Amino acid sequence: MTSSLPAADADARRALAWTHTARFLTTAAQLHQLPATELPEIAFVGRSNAGKSTAINLLTQQKRLAFASKTPGRTQHINLFALGPKDAPDALFADLPGYGYAAVARGAKLRWQKVMADYLELRRSLSGVVLMVDSRLGFTELDRQLLAFVAPRVGTGAVKLLVLLTKADKLNRRESDAALAEAQRVLADLATDDSDVGVSLFSALSRRGVADAAQWVHAGSRSIPPDAGAGVGVDEGTQGDVRAADAASADGHGEPPEHGPASGRTPDT
Ligand code: GDP
Repeated sequence: MTSSLPAADADARRALAWTHTARFLTTAAQLHQLPATELPEIAFVGRSNAGKSTAINLLTQQKRLAFASKTPGRTQHINLFALGPKDAPDALFADLPGYGYAAVARGAKLRWQKVMADYLELRRSLSGVVLMVDSRLGFTELDRQLLAFVAPRVGTGAVKLLVLLTKADKLNRRESDAALAEAQRVLADLATDDSDVGVSLFSALSRRGVADAAQWVHAGSRSIPPDAGAGVGVDEGTQGDVRAADAASADGHGEPPEHGPASGRTPDT
């Protein structure tokens, strides 16, 4: 039976079997607290409520994996998950803090900027970024700011970028086409001869885009970033392998405020 499946289906199944191996590794409030590693790392980023946790849970086929990132004290942390064989992980997922939740202090926003900029600019093992954008809202100002942090490394091809336009089940055909076209227009600014930038409609309800996203992260996990060469797996300032319990207690901030017309939470249903 399996032999009659198209190759793409077999690839998708392999990718989904691999993403299913994801398990929580550690959490950290700042870049230098992350473990030094040469494993390729795929980061998941997005505005609060964009559907990031849902997408991670769906990709890994684990109902509660990313909700580790929503527990008190961890919402502003970078949460790492290991993938591959238990005794020899071959890649990491990094779930980065959601941003853009309205009505939060300025200090929290500055802190968000520092954590994100440091991570996206300096984390050497970063090989891919998956940005979740609510398909009804499009890119917010903070999404654009985040893209600016990582744009230099996307431009060189060191970091691949995939934008998932989430909650696509809420759009009709015409709106979906428009959301895709608008995203492509924004992302065109990042494109170079060396860049690898993709965009896809995504829905947790219909599972649209899930298999493609799994294949994308699977492929990304097998490409070692050029700037993570031999002997340089340690990020500047890395002091070692700070584990979850130490880092988790330092929180207490809410999420940073959003600027611009798309601020505030939107209904979910
Ligand atoms: P996060 O803050 O980015 O992690 O967002 P969540 O994953 O918690 O999702 C925020 C809300 O959007 C929740 O109520 C989800 O059930 C809802 N949601 C997420 N993905 C989808 C989707 O594809 N379709 C629909 N209709 N709702 C979704």
